[in-house]
Amino acid sequence: MNRRFRYAVVGAGGIGSAAAYWLSRVAGEEVLCLEQWGANHGRGASEDHSRIIRLGYHSSRYTALTRDSYAAWERAERESGIPLVHRIGMVNLASPGTEGAGILENYEQAMTEQDIPYERFGAAEVMRRWPQFRLDADHEALFQPDGGILDIRKGVAVHLALARGNGATVLPHTQVTAIDDRGPSVQLRTTGGDFEVERLVLCAGAWTADLLETQLGIRWPIRLTQEQVTYFATTHLRDFTPDRFPIWIWHGDEEFYGFPVYGEMATKAAKELCGPSVSLDEWSWEPDRERVRRVGEFVEGILPGYSGPELYTRCCLYDMPPDRDFVVDRLPGHPSIAVCIGAGHAAKFAALLGRILAEITVDGSTEFPIEAFRADRPAMVDPDYVPAYRLGAEAATV
Ligand SMILES: Cc1cc2nc3c(=O)[nH]c(=O)nc-3n(C[C@H](O)[C@H](O)[C@H](O)COP(=O)(O)OP(=O)(O)OC[C@H]3O[C@@H](n4cnc5c(N)ncnc54)[C@H](O)[C@@H]3O)c2cc1C
Repeated sequence: MNRRFRYAVVGAGGIGSAAAYWLSRVAGEEVLCLEQWGANHGRGASEDHSRIIRLGYHSSRYTALTRDSYAAWERAERESGIPLVHRIGMVNLASPGTEGAGILENYEQAMTEQDIPYERFGAAEVMRRWPQFRLDADHEALFQPDGGILDIRKGVAVHLALARGNGATVLPHTQVTAIDDRGPSVQLRTTGGDFEVERLVLCAGAWTADLLETQLGIRWPIRLTQEQVTYFATTHLRDFTPDRFPIWIWHGDEEFYGFPVYGEMATKAAKELCGPSVSLDEWSWEPDRERVRRVGEFVEGILPGYSGPELYTRCCLYDMPPDRDFVVDRLPGHPSIAVCIGAGHAAKFAALLGRILAEITVDGSTEFPIEAFRADRPAMVDPDYVPAYRLGAEAATV
């Protein structure tokens, strides 16, 4: 086996598989992608049937990228012939005078700045369009028609197949155990032998911060939390099929979100960002039963018939910088290494982040606006930075 490659990607999840694909477009056989486990291993953050994809976001640092994210997934769909994105519409809900209402305002501002079309209406109109909902009369909603379901599991498989089709070497069951940056080249020790590469792209998800610390002595303030989603075996399948029911996010004191029936004969819902902080050694993949109960109780209140017996609950980790923004950058002090942290909301951007990582690795720069995601920004380097992990709750800014 060839042991020298120009480019190597560590991690074949949502972002790494896309990076391998985009690198393979320019460097074919000179690309290596290493994954510690097998396909659909179920321990990462990109193996589920569905993830929310949306044009709407709480800040224009993201809405400036959401259209390009769709375009990057469309390219993978075109090249593979496999549908990955289902635009079924998305509704954000909140009650007036709450933090959630502030989040809706941030969405409106960020969408307006990028001319993203949306509608704003009240509870009555929500229930007219989707009679499945039971909302208090004062609730408000934002509707964006392009929001929808990204089949992230298929997305990963498609990017890896396209990369291999371009000549890239993709090695599952090959864990990177040591990284030695020698400047002009990087030495990799793996459970499948040693490799020498010119440029490295670190897309190891929740494992990235640990690799940076143990292998390169770089300590990043990345908080890991154990999050979960539950599939409910509803008996009202027809009411909640994607042609009749949108993606929804409830921005209350507690935040919940959910999907129509997709991937399983079940609806799927979750409570956002409420998992315990964990370390890689501690986390258990064991679902929190109380959270399953709370989600079931909540959805039954606003969507009678949506829940049902639990089919199963899937756990994975959020990897969050203190400002909950991505990190997409070359590693300061290590120009041969690029790195990406998805901050627990990157599946929808994975195809584009893969492209951006390939561009900064091959060309040294990218046209896409990623200044806000620098590795040396205050949230990453200032020990006194006050963390704020809730997406969208920041004061309305640019
Ligand atoms: C419960 C939950 C719900 C979410 N919902 C959404 C959503 O609706 N929309 C959205 O956009 N985002 C969502 N996200 C976030 C999104 O899933 C992630 O941001 C994204 O999938 C991260 O992709 P990744 O490639 O960085 O990480 P991963 O997919 O976890 O991939 C990292 C890969 O690196 C491999 N790896 C690690 N260490 C090594 C090593 N030493 N050697 C070799 N391989 C290694 C791992 O095995 C893994 O396969 C959600 C996340 C969670 C946890």
